[in-house]
Amino acid sequence: MAGERTIGEVGKVPQGRLMGRSGAVTLSGGPAQQIRILVVEDEPTVRAALRTVLGGSGFEVTEAATGAEATAVNDAGQVDVVLLDLVLPDTDGVSLLVRLRKARNVPVVVLSGRRPLADKLRALDAGADDYVMKPFHTAELLARIRAVLRRSKAAPEGPGLVTVGDVEIDLTKRVVRRNGEMLRLTPTELRLLLELVSNPGMLLTHSELLKRVWGETYGTESHYLRVYIAQLRRKLGDSATRPRMIRTEPGLGYRWMEKQG
Ligand code: CA
Repeated sequence: MAGERTIGEVGKVPQGRLMGRSGAVTLSGGPAQQIRILVVEDEPTVRAALRTVLGGSGFEVTEAATGAEATAVNDAGQVDVVLLDLVLPDTDGVSLLVRLRKARNVPVVVLSGRRPLADKLRALDAGADDYVMKPFHTAELLARIRAVLRRSKAAPEGPGLVTVGDVEIDLTKRVVRRNGEMLRLTPTELRLLLELVSNPGMLLTHSELLKRVWGETYGTESHYLRVYIAQLRRKLGDSATRPRMIRTEPGLGYRWMEKQG
């Protein structure tokens, strides 16, 4: 495809036309502060390619070649979104992911050339918001970063406060409490929960949920949903077999239970 390039192919220097500069990317779409992206990648050629593509697309790029560097930048709070390579010299990528998410509720997109599904699930399970396999097209990467940023900012409309047993969901403040204590939800978990809660009693199909939470280019990745619904249930204290909140409609999707018992 013209204007598109592939990054991260083993043994190949990325080639092709660079993406044109399309102006600064901001959260509001206005001339506000540029979005800061932290690229964590030890491979210099991949890092350089990412810097070119992301910088050319209007992001402010900070680079880290190690887990230690990434932790320092993240802790300083200078990051809106993290692009994280899972294979790093000084740390296991998934442990680093857990550390980054613990320090700040920053959205994380994982990059990896490692084996598909098991790693993908492990990364999602550790709190990654999305996952891009190497080699990847720049257009796909940019679409996923934008989708992650969109769902970390936008909140669906809905009723103000929903209470189920010991769980209290404040849709306006986007805060979830259990036994009065604030639950730490990742941006994607929160977005998924709000999507469900805002449509009480309605069946939301796998494809609908994926499109609404992850973005228009999604629809078949129902394993994402399995992982995230399981995490939500764990954090909310809900059960798949005797649900009080999220009901699984086998083969179809999920439903926020209208009448809680
Ligand atoms: Ca690497």
